[in-house]
Amino acid sequence: ASRALGDVIASALADVAQALDDAADELGRIDRVAGDGDHGIGMQRGSHAARDAGRRASEAGAGAQTVLAHAAEAWSDKAGGTSGAIWAEILKTVGTALTDDEAVTAQRVADGVRAASDAVRAFGKAEVGDKTMVDAIVPFAETLSAEVAAGRRLGDAWAAATDAAEAAARSTADLVATLGRARSHGEKSIGTPDPGAVSFALVCRTVHRAFVD
Ligand code: ADP
Ligand code: MG
Ligand code: MG
Repeated sequence: ASRALGDVIASALADVAQALDDAADELGRIDRVAGDGDHGIGMQRGSHAARDAGRRASEAGAGAQTVLAHAAEAWSDKAGGTSGAIWAEILKTVGTALTDDEAVTAQRVADGVRAASDAVRAFGKAEVGDKTMVDAIVPFAETLSAEVAAGRRLGDAWAAATDAAEAAARSTADLVATLGRARSHGEKSIGTPDPGAVSFALVCRTVHRAFVD
């Protein structure tokens, strides 16, 4: 018997929290170059709260949308910072696309990720090239949609999209930050990738492992 989707999502959130614990020092180091150095600790706080809220909701029998809505609210409440509010948008928007009771399809996931990408851009007013996590989420969403449209299985499409997000996150090292806290010392960020783009790609990689295993 397959596990309920709410439970699968709750355990993926636990894997994400673990991966961010492991990466926190490095994310903090990257954010210290042109930001305020709190990206590692902020992502830890947010993902721990999301993990705990998601677990509680799934244990109460909630479906995907409700689990993700609780996780989203907890993430932004506890993380603070720009990235906390943005991660809440991502989780909430993907949850809305998944619904509480319909079966997951590759198309529904791809549509949810695209909606999340649009929501992040509307929320933060950043576009590709501004050296933010938008630089990773846009190619992730576009690759996922293209691969699903080409008939690839969800796991394979997600892996290809993750490769695109990682490459894009690495490429942000070449850019000057013009938004957020980094804008005041953007030149210093040349040679260092955007922390939010790096952590976005890490979350994608972790979620892939969570649903392939
Ligand atoms: P803060 O900047 O408030 O300290 P974090 O350090 O947790 O928050 O997150 C910083 C990351 O947030 C940046 O690396 C960038 O990816 C992302 N970010 C900042 N501003 C925006 C924005 N307007 N739109 C999208 N992402 C943004
Ligand atoms: Mg910061
Ligand atoms: Mg901060």
